[in-house]
Amino acid sequence: MHVFGQELPAKKMPTKEELAKNNKLFIELANKHLHWDEPTEPAHVVGPLYFVGTRGLSSWLFVTSEGNILLNTGTPRSGPMIVESIRKLGFKPEDIKIIINGHGHSDHAGAFAYMKKLTGAQIAIMEPDVAMIEDGGKSDFHYGKDYKIMGQPPVKVDRILHDGDIVKLGEVSLTAHLTPGHTKGSTTWVTTLMEGGKQYKVVFPDGAGFNPGYQIANPEEYPGINQDYRKTLTFLESLKPDIWGGHHTEYFDLENKKKRAATEEIKAWIDPEGYRRFIAGKRKAFEEETALEMGRKKDVGGKSNLKKN
Ligand SMILES: [Zn+2]
Repeated sequence: MHVFGQELPAKKMPTKEELAKNNKLFIELANKHLHWDEPTEPAHVVGPLYFVGTRGLSSWLFVTSEGNILLNTGTPRSGPMIVESIRKLGFKPEDIKIIINGHGHSDHAGAFAYMKKLTGAQIAIMEPDVAMIEDGGKSDFHYGKDYKIMGQPPVKVDRILHDGDIVKLGEVSLTAHLTPGHTKGSTTWVTTLMEGGKQYKVVFPDGAGFNPGYQIANPEEYPGINQDYRKTLTFLESLKPDIWGGHHTEYFDLENKKKRAATEEIKAWIDPEGYRRFIAGKRKAFEEETALEMGRKKDVGGKSNLKKN
């Protein structure tokens, strides 16, 4: 079965239905098989951008003349690995001035508290995800009831972002686009970075994925989720990046790109077709799941209660 777009070994694996009912099992399984808490080598990507995440979870460092920006922090156990990667590249974790994220779940915002304590950086979050960052995930529409299992330390948000806001530091300017669905405040970051006198459009897409147990047709826990996913997918389909980075490393084949970058440098990271394929996969999964849930509702209730989009 697939978890975060990767095929897991079939043997002794719980079914999709079992995972949908058991968030703890799902998170433990994803952590182990997708290597969330294993270190990996950091890498230069383009201009001021570096990969500093774990083997399974992306963290991105933007280095500027006025200090650095960190995008995503992995799980509550990822902090020391990110710090080690930043030091390996010759930068100081203490130079991080702003911390941002794709969405508020514990596999991306888990080490926010750790990194903020270490750096004193300002945390900037899209408005609908602010509450879940400040209450350790308790107010998340789906995982809120299990927030203690996720173990995400609450942390104060310093700047509340809205759709289209810009986070700027030194030469780097990132635009925050509200792309809800996966969480209500999922954020897609878009920027243009320079290297060798050339400009590269760089995108960090978020919001289009759904996990086991999500109801995406018309659930009580998140009215309007289907329309939100649809808007998000249409927006993501409109972007044409040269370089992109998913928040899970298997989305964009990090290890292969890193290997190629040793000889090909920036060329290894240029991947417009990979982005198009990734978003097309998200669209297909969304349409299939929506149809499945609508069909299921018809079977059970005799008539679908799904609102037309
Ligand atoms: Zn998530």
